[in-house]
Parts: sequence; structure tokens; C-alpha cells
Amino acid sequence: MAAEGFDYLIVGAGFAGSVLAERLAAGLDKRVLIIDRRPHIGGNAYDHYNDDGLLIHRYGPHIFHTNARRIVDYLSQFTEWRHYEHRVLAKVDDKLVPIPINLTTLNQLYDLDLTPEQAEAFLAARAETLDEIKTSEDVVISQVGRELYEKFFRGYTRKQWGLDPSQLDKSVTSRVPTRTNTDDRYFLDEFQIMPLHGYTRMFENMLNHPNIKIMLNADYREIRDEVHFKHLIFTGPIDEYFDYRFGKLPYRSLAFRHTTEDTPQFQEVGVVNYPDQEVPYTRITEYKHLTGQQHAKTALTYEYPQAEGDPYYPVPRPENAELYRKYQALADASPDVTFVGRLATYRYYNMDQVIGQALATYHRLAEAEANALPL
Ligand code: FAD
Ligand code: UDP
Repeated sequence: MAAEGFDYLIVGAGFAGSVLAERLAAGLDKRVLIIDRRPHIGGNAYDHYNDDGLLIHRYGPHIFHTNARRIVDYLSQFTEWRHYEHRVLAKVDDKLVPIPINLTTLNQLYDLDLTPEQAEAFLAARAETLDEIKTSEDVVISQVGRELYEKFFRGYTRKQWGLDPSQLDKSVTSRVPTRTNTDDRYFLDEFQIMPLHGYTRMFENMLNHPNIKIMLNADYREIRDEVHFKHLIFTGPIDEYFDYRFGKLPYRSLAFRHTTEDTPQFQEVGVVNYPDQEVPYTRITEYKHLTGQQHAKTALTYEYPQAEGDPYYPVPRPENAELYRKYQALADASPDVTFVGRLATYRYYNMDQVIGQALATYHRLAEAEANALPL
């Protein structure tokens, strides 16, 4: 193998890289080398058992949800599932109330007994009419008005992004809807499931193929001159690949504080959000709700947003989209490299969207291979 080299070098063993490695190896019989600079596969979805034997997500809570049956069918080759519907509470005015804002939220927060129709009127009376909805502030105040915006969104968003919601694209807070019924699920997708034995086990099964070699603790720069390959698939930050030629693309980072508490249950639901700007973290996750694990203790993660550190979130705002387009033009002019994934295409994608993007990329590559066209 070494003498002939690999058909594909894939940089990054997260969802984007691992789905492509699996498809190219199993679907097209290609020889693939997949590398990651971290000491593990799975990218940001990596999970592992901590010192107390509790399954935790190293890079914060990852909840799988999708409406795409074909993506569930694809992953089901590598894992069994457990059903899990995610619920989140927010600590507001010293109360723990459901987020997305729903009928229960309004009734608990304001000591009311509204019906769904009355809740609709309540919100309509507070919502501001705007000519155009452009920013993440506009989205919320046009649905629920300024007071609820300030209670639930302004502080959280300022912490999470280091920016005011008025400086962020509307797509950010649009992820969180408003409801006037009592449905308190965070997501409404048809499929809400977690890999039964964890994400890492699923990734191990995906990459367990004789055509796939895995190299960890290996940065692309360290090994690019050492290995022979025909085509490169890059799933890391696109600005880094091009040596920041046009300047750095902003990615928001997080510090995670993982703890174990000597109690079977810490909080009522999987995630509690803390929109208060005086609280330094944005949310606390308790994994047992997500994993269903039985254990005398319980594991938590606190998330502290920060500017420096591993890139986790592309920052959706017009000037960043413009800078990304410059890098995208370079990418389009680089036929030897294919860019896939959340960091490489600078998109605030959920896992299922990254898998969809990787599967679409695979079909494009397969077609080009079949017709002997440039990849
Ligand atoms: P990544 O998982 O980031 O993988 C890229 C990999 O490339 C990394 O492992 C990195 O080490 C490696 N790499 C980069 N550059 C190099 C290099 N030069 N050399 C070698 N290796 C390199 N999605 C959901 O659907 N549900 C959720 O609940 C959810 N929660 C999230 C919570 C947090 C805190 C975060 C940050 C994200 C969350 N996501 C969630 C999004 C999810 O993590 C991503 O959609 C998905 O993991 C992206 O996969 P990827 O392969 O594109 O990138
Ligand atoms: N958000 C907020 N308050 C909340 C929950 C979310 O202001 O209680 C805003 C915030 O800007 C956040 C965005 O909505 O970044 C998207 O929330 P989501 O829970 O989807 O974030 P993720 O899980 O991707 O970090």
C-alpha cells in the first residue's frame, strides 16, 4: 500500500471525514487514509467514559435529530438507537421554565393561566412590527417583544457569540422557535435518537474497513509531504488551509468544564440554559438524560464561550459570509482538494446536515470517478 499510496487523504475524522472515508472505501473500493490532529476519531461528536465510568461528550452535548430517513438508514448500518426527546429549561427570574418559549413558559413566568389563544394574543400584543427581519434581534422581538427577548435571548447570545444579537444573522436565533401550545421538546424532527452505545462506537464501526487506515495526533501540515495520495478531502477550517491569505475567518470557541456529582440526578432535564449575563457559562448538560445510563453518580458539562481556542462555531454575519466567499473562490479553483463539513464550508450545520453534505459530495465524487472526470 505505502509504495502505491492512497487514493484519498481525508483530513479530519469527524462526521464529514468519516462518512466520506466509509463511502469511498466500502462504496468505491478506494484506499483511504483518514487523519486527525486530535488523539481520537469522531470530531466534535466524540464521546467517552470518564474516570467514574459515566459516558460524556468531550465537546459538549450532541443530540441527534433529523427529518431525513435516508440519513437515519445510513447511520443505522453502524449503530442501534435509543429514543431521546431533548427538553431544555432556562433559568429566568429565578424560575426554571421551558425554552423554546411556550404556553407553560408564559404561564409560569407571569403567574398566568392563559389558553393557547390567549397566549397568542399575549405575544401579539408585545411583538414589534418590523419592515424587514435581518438580524437575530429582529427575529425574536418580532415574535415575542423586547421583554422576553431580553430575558431569554440577549444575555445568552452576547455570552455565546461575544456579539449583540443585532450583529448576528437572523439564522442564529431562528434556530429556536416560539410556541403557544405546551409542546416542550427542543426539536420537532421526526427522528430524535441517540446512538445506543455512543457516538464513538458508531464512528469505530464506520471506519472499520480494510481499505481505511487511521492516523491520529497527525496534523495535515506534518504529514502532507510524507504520504502519497491522489485526491485530498479537507474538513478543517478553510482559512487555515489557505494560510489565512485573506485574514482569519472568525470561529467562536468554548471552554468545557466537566464535573462528576455524587448524586444520581442533578437537574430535571438534559440541558439547563442560563441566559443571565452575570452567569459566566451558557448552559449545563447532564448526560444521563441523553444516554439513559444508570449510575449512582452523574456527569455534567458547563460551557464557557470564548474567542480563542478550538474552532467550534462559524459566526453567521454578513462580513464573515463575504470573507468566506473569497476562500470559497480559492477552493473552487483548487481541483485537487474537496472541502466538506462545518469548518471547511463555514456553515452552522447540525450533524445531520453535515452527513447530508458528505453523502452528496460522495455521489459527486463517485460520478466523476465513473466518468473519469476531474474530481
Ligand atoms: P468536526 O467534528 O469539527 O471535525 C473536524 C475534524 O478535523 C476535527 O476532529 C479536527 O481535529 C480535524 N482537523 C481540523 N484541521 C485539521 C488538520 N489541519 N489536520 C488534522 N486534523 C484536522 N449538532 C447536532 O446535530 N446536534 C447537537 O446537539 C449539536 N451540538 C453541538 C454542540 C457543540 C458545543 C458544538 C460545537 C457543535 C454541536 N453540533 C451539534 C454540531 C456538530 O458538532 C457538527 O455538525 C459536526 O460535528 C461537524 O462535523 P465535521 O466533520 O464537519 O467537523
Ligand atoms: N439562544 C438564546 N437563548 C437560549 C437558547 C438559544 O439566546 O436559551 C440563541 C443563542 O444565540 C444560540 C442560538 O439561539 O446561540 C441557537 O441556539 P441552539 O440551542 O441551537 O445552539 P447550539 O446548540 O448550536 O449551541
